[in-house]
Amino acid sequence: MCSIQRNLKEVLNDLPSGVRLVAVSKFHPNEAIMQAYEAGQRIFGESKVQEMTEKQEALPKDIEWHFIGHLQTNKIKYMAPYVAMIHGVDSYKLLAEINKQAAKCGRTIPCLLQLHIAQEETKFGFSFDECTAMLASGEWKSLTHVSLCGLMGMASNTDDMQQVRQEFHSLHEYFLQTREHFFSDSSTFRELSMGMSHDYPLAIQEGATLVRVGSKIFGERLYI
Ligand SMILES: *Cc1c(COP(=O)(O)O)cnc(C)c1O
Repeated sequence: MCSIQRNLKEVLNDLPSGVRLVAVSKFHPNEAIMQAYEAGQRIFGESKVQEMTEKQEALPKDIEWHFIGHLQTNKIKYMAPYVAMIHGVDSYKLLAEINKQAAKCGRTIPCLLQLHIAQEETKFGFSFDECTAMLASGEWKSLTHVSLCGLMGMASNTDDMQQVRQEFHSLHEYFLQTREHFFSDSSTFRELSMGMSHDYPLAIQEGATLVRVGSKIFGERLYI
């Protein structure tokens, strides 16, 4: 067993049933992905559309590709034919564009709304109020080629684990409220994507259903 497969097993051992792993393979080569694939991993996360599309073309077709990066409207069309889930939707405009491109492919694309829960200004996402306003407008209900499956967030990049826990906790609370207010008649709104290599155990304790773990499995990246 190679180190990627050992690391993968370790992370999987930490996941209770009901929590799924998105193995974040950005900036790692196809060979690294295949190591994880051969150990049974099928969900991979990427943050650049072009890189993800090249990998999708080269690698086995039963891989589920999750896009976890910052979205640009003009790139959506390249992943619309195959992407399994888009985690970082942070405006109605993006949701509408995903809907348009999905319709052209005859697909319905599962999407997560990204919330800004960290202290850093640099991270993307709706504020809780903005997200509630967007959902309350009801316009999204006409977008029949996207499926709102839940929420995504990134905690502050800090060693203060109390702070991180608090951020995950507030996102979970908001998730429960949102599900009750806007999705009580649907079972599709059920995913909470939070937790990375250094904080996924906390995220799981605070209610994550999807964790996005990269460097702990594949090793350090040269770039962020
Ligand atoms: C890169 C990235 C991850 C994985 O980060 P690691 O620290 O390598 O586990 C998770 N989520 C998002 C949004 C990312 O961009």
